[in-house]
Amino acid sequence: MSSKRIVPLPSNERERMSSLRRLEILDTAPERAYDDIVELASAICGTPIAVMTLIDGDRQWMKAKIGLPMDETPREESFCTYAILDNEMLVVPDAQADDRFADMFAVQSGLKFYAGSPIRSPDGFNLGTLCVLDVQTRSLTQAQTSALEALRRMIESHLELRRANLELVRLEQQKRELTELVVHDLKNPITSILPNAAYIERSKGISDNARSAAKDILGSTQAMLGLVMNLLDISRAEDATLTPQRSLVDVPQLIEEVRASLGARAVDRGSALALAISDEVAQAQLDRDLTRRILENLADNALKYARGGRVTLGARWEGRDLLLTVEDDGPGIPASERERIFEKYARIDGSPQPERSRGLGLTFCRLASEAHGGQIWVEEVTPRGSRFCVRLPRE
Ligand code: ADP
Repeated sequence: MSSKRIVPLPSNERERMSSLRRLEILDTAPERAYDDIVELASAICGTPIAVMTLIDGDRQWMKAKIGLPMDETPREESFCTYAILDNEMLVVPDAQADDRFADMFAVQSGLKFYAGSPIRSPDGFNLGTLCVLDVQTRSLTQAQTSALEALRRMIESHLELRRANLELVRLEQQKRELTELVVHDLKNPITSILPNAAYIERSKGISDNARSAAKDILGSTQAMLGLVMNLLDISRAEDATLTPQRSLVDVPQLIEEVRASLGARAVDRGSALALAISDEVAQAQLDRDLTRRILENLADNALKYARGGRVTLGARWEGRDLLLTVEDDGPGIPASERERIFEKYARIDGSPQPERSRGLGLTFCRLASEAHGGQIWVEEVTPRGSRFCVRLPRE
């Protein structure tokens, strides 16, 4: 019987529906804020029923309600579908005497009074109402009407917050996807430049100028690759997908490789690179690539910030852990900065900022150490310098 009723649609029904969909609120769990609002509406207006409705295509769904057992009704069984046709509150003192509603099932079962204030979406569409209903005819006082409007505005503020929150989550997701994309698309060309630049640099029969240009290309491309890899792993760690791929790693050999890969840079900067590997150190279960890049980042920093000094790469067992250290005799790090420098984009004010300084290297080192279940920290060295310590479980 009720399905024969004709439902009047707002002229902007399509846009209104997209606005409602964008809020992603239909069929969500009850929320305290909206429950409180309908409770207040019922208490203030003195009605047994108060509802926050949202008008979906063919149904009226209730985000919050008091005094009704169901979560939704067909749209043709809804007062609110009339209320959203206008921006003003719809008041029906006696539905049984009103042609629009008299044949509704709920009205025939006894409902008489309805007052509903249309809830406007953040982008200006009427989505549903905050309404109060009663089984007897009645009216609202001026104060009750204003209170109902005020409560409806509170709902609108909550919806505004909801939309802002969704937008933030969406932006954050886009930012992550963009980082992944940029990083992936940059990684390949950069890795193909490296062997070519290395080949030219080693070639016989080229001019000194060409060799020095190839060396510059090699150096800056390596730094760019380091930055891209750090960014990629930081974004993975933020997504909780940076998982170490453990294998049995020969630790002294790994450190030797790091020294070899940074040898040329040490010479350029007039620094000495020394090793202090304790005799008993042998193999450990580590992610080889991540551990190597932790050491490379730390050693590169030491060479950058402690130019012309001595940098020592160390390793020793500490109980069930492997302790890796990178020590320099440079300017050191003020006590107040020793935690902060491991945060994203953190750099120390006033310290000489070399080219391509982004404050990401130590963030990568911390996240990669933590992904291993380990830790990183920095200590001061007397008379001057810093010692970065990385403690990683041996297995
Ligand atoms: P970046 O070197 O790209 O700025 P990092 O995260 O690697 O980023 O380092 C953060 C900051 O910590 C640096 O800007 C620098 O001020 C300081 N720092 C790092 N390593 C050293 C070091 N060995 N000696 C002195 N300062 C350092």
